[in-house]
Amino acid sequence: MNLISNSEPIFVVQKHATLHLHYDFRLAIDGVLKSWAIPKGPCLDSKIKRLAVEVEDHPLEYASFEGIIPKGQYGAGSVIVWDYGHWSSIKNLPFNLSKGHLSFNLQGKKLQGSWNLIRIQKIRDKPQWLLIKINDEFSRPLTEYDILIDKPESVLTS
Ligand code: MN
Repeated sequence: MNLISNSEPIFVVQKHATLHLHYDFRLAIDGVLKSWAIPKGPCLDSKIKRLAVEVEDHPLEYASFEGIIPKGQYGAGSVIVWDYGHWSSIKNLPFNLSKGHLSFNLQGKKLQGSWNLIRIQKIRDKPQWLLIKINDEFSRPLTEYDILIDKPESVLTS
């Protein structure tokens, strides 16, 4: 499947079952997939902050990758496309990678509405950010609903 669109930039969330299960959150910016590894995954609760460790850029083509990364290779384990769709910046809110503050809307199959990614620490090559849902009609308290449990599957193959 070709997830690359000519109009709006895409985002993808790949669920990566490796030694430590995590969710790779990727935004297409300037022709690459800017990438963050989120150990606990995205959360719809606006009161919950999820650690997102900035990792290396990936090529746009990687957005549709699902499969097995063989033993011995970096990231060995299985990858599914947990969510994908388009993102857009939000009028009057910051979107600045170098300043470490990104506010954006997601139009995914699972993730919707407004989000913040805010850098909290610049540690060598792995800056730490927080992914936080902005309170809107798509936010939900984690005590009532956990999208990671309710919708664990791939959006491509199910
Ligand atoms: Mn990963």
